[in-house]
Amino acid sequence: MLKFYNSLTRKLEEFKPIKKDSVALYTCGPTVYNYAHIGNLRTNILYDLLRKTLTFNGYKIKHVLNITDVGHLTSDADTGEDKMEKNASTKDEVFGVAKKYTDAFLENLQSINIQLPDVMPKASEHIAEQIEMIKTLMEKDFAYESDEAVYFDVAKFPRYNRLTGQKLEDMMLGARQEVVKDPKKKNAIDFVLWFKTVGRYQNHILRWPSPWGDGFPGWHIECSAMSKKYLGQPIDIHAGGIDLKFPHHTNEIAQSEAAHKKPLANFWMHGEHLLVDAGKMAKSEGNFLTLKDVTGKGYNPLTFRYLVLSAHYRTKLNFTWESLTAAQNALNNLYQEISSYEQPKVGCAEFEQRFQDAINDDLNTPKALAVAHDLIRSDYPGSAKLQSLLKFDQVLGLKLRETWEATRNIPEVVSRLIGLREEARKAKDFVRADELRQAIEKEGYLIEDTPDGYRIKKKF
Ligand code: AMP
Ligand code: ZN
Repeated sequence: MLKFYNSLTRKLEEFKPIKKDSVALYTCGPTVYNYAHIGNLRTNILYDLLRKTLTFNGYKIKHVLNITDVGHLTSDADTGEDKMEKNASTKDEVFGVAKKYTDAFLENLQSINIQLPDVMPKASEHIAEQIEMIKTLMEKDFAYESDEAVYFDVAKFPRYNRLTGQKLEDMMLGARQEVVKDPKKKNAIDFVLWFKTVGRYQNHILRWPSPWGDGFPGWHIECSAMSKKYLGQPIDIHAGGIDLKFPHHTNEIAQSEAAHKKPLANFWMHGEHLLVDAGKMAKSEGNFLTLKDVTGKGYNPLTFRYLVLSAHYRTKLNFTWESLTAAQNALNNLYQEISSYEQPKVGCAEFEQRFQDAINDDLNTPKALAVAHDLIRSDYPGSAKLQSLLKFDQVLGLKLRETWEATRNIPEVVSRLIGLREEARKAKDFVRADELRQAIEKEGYLIEDTPDGYRIKKKF
C-alpha cells in the first residue's frame, strides 16, 4: 500500500489517484532571478523521488513544474519589489536574467539525476489564463478592485485556514501588523491577484493590458491558472517546500476553489528545509551554497543526492561539509561494492519487498538505503544483489547501472598485474604477491582473496 502524509488533513493517507493508473503532479518551481541553492535542490530531489516512487508503483505521471519569471515580490505587496526586476532595466534584460538562471537550474537538475518535468510553463507566457481566472473571481465576487490592484477578498472564503490549521482570526490579526499602503485594501490579509502599473509599481518593466488596466499578475495566481490548464482540477498531488504552505499554497487553494468550486488537489506534500548552521538556507540570507560550490570542492553531485536521501523529507536536514563527506564515502563504498558483481540476474524478492515497503511508507528513504546496505552485507550472490540494487536505483537515482558498466572493462595493465599476482601466489612468493597487489591499487583497483578466488573492485 502506498501512503503519503497529506498536509491538508495532517494525516498519513493511502494514496489513490483520481484516474486509475495515472497521476497528475504539480510542483512549485524556482523564481529564476538567481542560481538555485542546494536547499531548493533538496526540494527538487523530493519532487523527483515522488515521481520515481509513483512510477515504481506502476503509475504514469504527468508532472508540471512552473518557472516564476514575474510578480514574485521581495516582501509583501505593499512594500515589495519584483525579484525578477532587481537586476534588469529592460524587458529583454528581465527575460535574459530568467533564461540564464533557468538554464543553470535545468543543468543542476540533470547533474543530480532529476528527471525533467513533462511541462515547465513560464508565468510570463500564461498571462491570458491568469487574467481569465481573475475575471471569474471578480464575477463570483471573490475579488475586488482598488486604484492600485485587484485583491482576493479573504473574508469571503471561510476555509482559508485549512492548510495552516491556524485560527482564521489569528491569521487576520497577524496580517494587520504588516504595513498597508493601499487605503482601499479591505483587509491586510487580502492578497494581490493583479498589480496595476501605477503608484509604486509605475516603473514595473513587465506589463500587459487587462480589464483593470495595464499591469502584471500577483505571484500565486500563476500556479492556480497553469495547474488547471495542464492538469485540470482537481489534481492528485501538489507539492512544494514547507515555506510555501503559507501564503503561497493557502492562496492558491483559495483562488482555485473559489473560482472552480472544486478542490485544487487531493494531496498536499511539503518538504522540510535544508539548514546551514541551524538556520534556513535562503537567497535572502546570503548563506546559500550552490551545486557549483559542492562540485568545486571535488564532490560528485550525486553525493548531494545521497545526503538528501539519507534524511526523511519531513525532517530538517542540517548541511555540513562533514556530512557531505560521509555521504561521499557511503556512495563510493556502494559503487566499489557493485563493481565486483557479476551480470545481474534473478533478484532477491525478500529485499525488494522490504525496499518497496520503505519507500511506499511516505517515501522513507533512510530506511530504503538501509535495506540496500543490508542486501550488500547479505549472503546472496553478487548477480542477485545487483539485480535488486538496479531495481532500487529506479527510485534512488544514484546511477548504479552506469557506474557498474563503466567498471566492466578492466584495463589491460591491471589484468596483466592480476595474472602475475596469481602466479606469485601459486609459487608461494607472498612478498611479490603483495607488491603486485599494491601495483594494482595504484592503477585504481582493489583485489581481495575469497574462498572462491580473487575479487576485483574499482576503487572510488
Ligand atoms: P524559490 O526559488 O525561493 O521560490 O524556491 C523554490 C523551491 O525551493 C520552493 O519549493 C521552496 O519551498 C524551496 N526552498 C526554498 N528554500 C529552501 C530550503 N532552505 N530548503 C529546502 N527547500 C527550500
Ligand atoms: Zn506555486
